[in-house]
Amino acid sequence: MGFPAPSARQQAAIEQVELWGAHNYAPLPVVIADAAGAVVHDIDGNAYLDCLAAYSAVNFGHGHPDLVAAASDQLHRLTLTSRAFHSEPYGPFVAALGRLCGKEVVLPMNTGVEAVETAIKTARKWGYEVKGVPEGAATIVVMEGNFHGRTTTVISFSNDPDARANFAPFTAGFVHVPFGDADALDAAIDAHTVAVLVEPIQGEGGVIVPPEGYLRAVREICSRRGVLMIADEIQSGLGRAGETFACDREGVVPDVYLLGKALGGGIMPVSAVVANRDVLGVFTPGTHGSTFGGNPLACAIGSAVVRLLETGEMQAASRERGAQLRAGLQPLLDSGQATALRQAGLWLGVDVHPDLGTAKDLCYALLGRGVLAKDTHVHTIRLAPPLVITKEQVDEVIAHLLAAFADAARGVLRPA
Ligand SMILES: *Cc1c(COP(=O)(O)O)cnc(C)c1O
Repeated sequence: MGFPAPSARQQAAIEQVELWGAHNYAPLPVVIADAAGAVVHDIDGNAYLDCLAAYSAVNFGHGHPDLVAAASDQLHRLTLTSRAFHSEPYGPFVAALGRLCGKEVVLPMNTGVEAVETAIKTARKWGYEVKGVPEGAATIVVMEGNFHGRTTTVISFSNDPDARANFAPFTAGFVHVPFGDADALDAAIDAHTVAVLVEPIQGEGGVIVPPEGYLRAVREICSRRGVLMIADEIQSGLGRAGETFACDREGVVPDVYLLGKALGGGIMPVSAVVANRDVLGVFTPGTHGSTFGGNPLACAIGSAVVRLLETGEMQAASRERGAQLRAGLQPLLDSGQATALRQAGLWLGVDVHPDLGTAKDLCYALLGRGVLAKDTHVHTIRLAPPLVITKEQVDEVIAHLLAAFADAARGVLRPA
C-alpha cells in the first residue's frame, strides 16, 4: 500500500523506541510532537487529523483551553497530598462528579483498570456484607468480547487469547454470557451472583452497539435478581456516544458507573467508581486506597471536565458530527468496500471488506493521507475523533476515508 516511508528523523526516533521500549504495542510509524483540538503534528511539522483521540481519553480535544487552565493553575498550587489529608480540590470534584452521575458517592482512582478492579472489590464486598452470599462464593457475570483493562484479575475474564496467553493462574469468580443476549444473562444469574459487568457499547470489541432495549433488559434483570449493574463507561461515557453516558441512550441508570479516559481530559489518568451509599458504603478506612487516587491535580482537571459536560455542548457535538460522519461513509457500505458500519455518537466501527486488506492496511493508507486511525481486531477501523472536531474537518476525514478505500478496492472489488 502506498504509504510513504517515515522521514530519517522519524525513523531514528522509532528505532530508539524499538531498541529501548518494550514491544507491547505496535504503533503506526509517526512520531507526534504537538497537537491542538483535533489536529496533531509530527516532529517534521506534518499535520494529521486525529481520529482516535487516544482511545477517547482526548474527547474534548488536545489542549482544551479550560482543561489546560485548570491543570496549570493547580500545578502551581498543590499537586499531591495523598489521601492522608484533605485537599482543596477534592471535595468540589467528588461533589461535581457525583451530581453529574446522579449518584451519592465517588471513589477516585487513576487508570481505568483500577476503577474496574475497585468495582470488582466493591461488588464482592457488597455481596458478602449486604446480599449475604457465602464467603468466597461470589461470582460476577461478564460479557464475551469484553475489554476492561490489563491487570491479572481483569484479563482473567478476557476472551482475547493475546491478552491471556501465559499469564495464568487467573482469578476465579467470573461467568461469561454473549453480549446483547438478555435471556442468556438472566439464565446465568444464580444466588451467588453479585454483579453484572457490562460495557454499554463494546469499544475495543469494535464499537459493538447492543440491540435496542438490551441495556433496559439488563437493568430490569439486575433489579429483579438483586445483583449490581456495573456499567463500564470508561470509553463509552463522557460524551463519546452522543450522551453523557452511553446508558443514557436507553434511559438506563446502572448501580455503578466506571469512568476513566476522558475524565482526565487527556492530561493525566483520572478514573472513578460512582454509586450510591448502599453500595460504595462497603468501604471503610484501610479496605481500599491509592496513593495518587483523588490527587489535587487530577481533581482540578476532573472538575473542569465535569463543567464541560454540564453544558451539553460536547454531547450535542458528538451527535451532530457523528451523524455527519456516518452519512458521509454510507458509500463504503453501498459499494461493498465496508461490510458493516456501526455508530453511536461520534464513535464508529467500520468493517473493511477482507478482499481490500486488513483494517491495519487501511490505517497505514490513512496515515499517508494525514488521518490517524487505529484498527481493532483484524477488520475493524475504529473512528473516534475529538468531539471538538469541526464540520469541515469531518468532511476532510470522510474524503480521505472514501479515497483510501477506493484505492484499496481498485482492481480488487468489482464496481457495485
Ligand atoms: C480503556 C478501557 C479500560 C482500561 O483503562 P486503562 O486506563 O487503560 O486502564 C477499561 N474499560 C474500558 C471499556 C476501556 O475502554
